[in-house]
Amino acid sequence: MTAATLPKTNLHLHLTGAMRPATLAELAARGGLPLPPPFTADTVHEWPAFQQRYDLARAAIRGPADIERVVVEAATDDAACGAEWIELQIDPTSYAPVAGSLAGAVEAALAGAARAPIPVGLIVAASWAAPPEHALRLATLAASYAGRGVVGFGLSNDERLGRVADVVPACRLAAEAGLKVVPHGGFYTPASHVADCVTLLGAHRIGHGLAAMRDPATRDLLAARGVALEICPTSYPPLGVAAIADLPIRELRAAGVLVALGTDDPLLFGSDLASQYTLVTTDPAEQADLARCAVIASAAPPAVRDELLTDITAWEKEIPA
Ligand SMILES: [Zn+2]
Repeated sequence: MTAATLPKTNLHLHLTGAMRPATLAELAARGGLPLPPPFTADTVHEWPAFQQRYDLARAAIRGPADIERVVVEAATDDAACGAEWIELQIDPTSYAPVAGSLAGAVEAALAGAARAPIPVGLIVAASWAAPPEHALRLATLAASYAGRGVVGFGLSNDERLGRVADVVPACRLAAEAGLKVVPHGGFYTPASHVADCVTLLGAHRIGHGLAAMRDPATRDLLAARGVALEICPTSYPPLGVAAIADLPIRELRAAGVLVALGTDDPLLFGSDLASQYTLVTTDPAEQADLARCAVIASAAPPAVRDELLTDITAWEKEIPA
């Protein structure tokens, strides 16, 4: 009974960021492309330093077969960490040039999901940095795949680059199609941004939401609406937004906020799903509680949810008294 055998979900994971380092090395070498430099310890990196690394890695993905491979490998690696369900984010805009079209990128990811060892739900993510019309276009695309593998609509990238009011129509369209609305928020922006994502966008979960952690009013809003924070501990130190030891996860749970641990971009942050749990708590009961939160916050089908919750309880029973 270890954190690696705790049955889990991973609700916050980006396609390129999920690539195995060895796969990136292979694909980059094939294209004669440079590898992204590692983050240097004791340096605070600004967002562009992250984005440049991400873009370098993404450039190695050259076609639908690569997308498919990355999805299969990501699911395989998370399964080795106990995952029984994952939700993978893809902004098809970034992959359309090599996949033929926006839909082609989604289709390639779905083909990977179909071959994965555990069920994978896809989240089509727009970018806070892109024009609102494009978000609406992607929400329409996502909605067309509702019930066919796409389970959510996200908004990724630096949330300072967009306006909540501009993406209301896109999020409404996605929600009406039955998709979970899962924007990144409150990474750099204040708690009011997180609250706006909940009240104006109808967010079901917030990617990170760090700013909400210590704001009682926003915390209460999240708890009252059952909106989860997707916390990815290893993403914060390199970008200087939070130390892992300072994440108030116990306080959030005490306030009734669902906390779903995710890996975000393990390729760049050098961690895995099981480590996200052990880094925030070594108490198995707390780890089981967090695993349960993520299941509750997930878009997993009822049968998968029930099995996960049963498996978590069985795991917990093995905790030595
Ligand atoms: Zn993210």
